[in-house]
Amino acid sequence: MGRLLSLALAQRGHAIDLYDAHGPQGDGAAARVAAAMLAPLAESAITEPGVVRMGQHGLRRWPELIAQLEQHVFLQQNGTLILWHRQDQGDAARFFGLLEKNRRINPSLPAMQEKTGAALHDCEPALQGRFNQAVYLPGEGQLDNRQLLTALLDKLSALGVRLHWESPREVSDFRPGETHGDSGQPDFVFDCRGLGARTQWKQLRGIRGEVVRIHAPEVTLQRPTRLIHPRYPIYIAPKEDHLFVIGATEIESDDMSPASVRSTLELLSAAYTVHSGFAEGRIVEIATQCRPTLPDNLPAVRLLTPRVMEVNGLYRHGFMISPAMLDVVLELVDHNDSPLAREFDVVVHRG
Ligand SMILES: Cc1cc2nc3c(=O)[nH]c(=O)nc-3n(C[C@H](O)[C@H](O)[C@H](O)COP(=O)(O)OP(=O)(O)OC[C@H]3O[C@@H](n4cnc5c(N)ncnc54)[C@H](O)[C@@H]3O)c2cc1C
Repeated sequence: MGRLLSLALAQRGHAIDLYDAHGPQGDGAAARVAAAMLAPLAESAITEPGVVRMGQHGLRRWPELIAQLEQHVFLQQNGTLILWHRQDQGDAARFFGLLEKNRRINPSLPAMQEKTGAALHDCEPALQGRFNQAVYLPGEGQLDNRQLLTALLDKLSALGVRLHWESPREVSDFRPGETHGDSGQPDFVFDCRGLGARTQWKQLRGIRGEVVRIHAPEVTLQRPTRLIHPRYPIYIAPKEDHLFVIGATEIESDDMSPASVRSTLELLSAAYTVHSGFAEGRIVEIATQCRPTLPDNLPAVRLLTPRVMEVNGLYRHGFMISPAMLDVVLELVDHNDSPLAREFDVVVHRG
């Protein structure tokens, strides 16, 4: 969120200093570990209509945002495929019931398509003989989060943004608007520290997610695939060059310790049941991060003072909704009011 916002403000001619507690790779960010799926219909089963509308906005905005970058960023809008094993049929029916209900609330969401036999084979050839039914959600997307973080950084450097790595800051380190003498103070402070902002946004909590990255040359999938699972939605997100992000657990905890054996077994066996070609894949990384989450699991903006704006609570939807949050923040900067915030039900706290 901080890199996207810095880019938009720098493009408007503002001088920006970006402070990050960690390094340029985004090592301290949920954004580095995420699968970066952009799946408003699939997520509508577990979130509010406003977040779904933000996700739809994001699907429209990402191509424009990425077109501004010099470096390549993989962006795909080829839908999501949902699979389930026979024993999870009941959970699958409940899940699809929720999607139907949400489509009635928001008819601009695309209709689910049932795929069986030849239609499933045409849609995802690699699943032939492994599954004989699936549900396809058209239009949904994903991007390569690490390519995006790098490309944003490259563009920020080119625009002259001053980058301060390994430089943790608190909002209280700044006195925005103080102009007397050569105070070196900014006009405005934006706090996009995710869980790092807990020092002053006390209601923030972490929701732990564990993710495995696998290089599997024997597997080719056309799009993110979700497997209905009794405890959390498991997905396989294919990035470029047969790299697969398999995730993610969802555990109410701030624990950032390495992934557990149980979670790793669950994720890997789920992937193997989707495609046996994962057996010979190579585990490139097993990572853990915590999603920055507010009590209602919804994002929010807080204007602590007229010159300090906090953007947080992006939870499990940071990539899906950050373009919408960006546009809300830019409206607030320009007009001290945001019609988009109302459209997306984003709460703007003041004072
Ligand atoms: C396992 C997992 C899977 C996910 N999958 C998806 C997905 O498929 N789709 C999707 O849309 N979203 C997904 N997300 C959610 C997404 O990653 C987050 O919502 C998003 O990264 C939040 O963005 P943010 O910028 O608010 O916080 P972060 O990405 O956490 O970035 C916070 C930044 O603040 C810095 N910082 C912290 N403290 C300080 C300080 N004191 N001073 C200076 N800098 C500081 C950090 O170093 C970091 O760079 C996933 C998250 C996880 C963990």
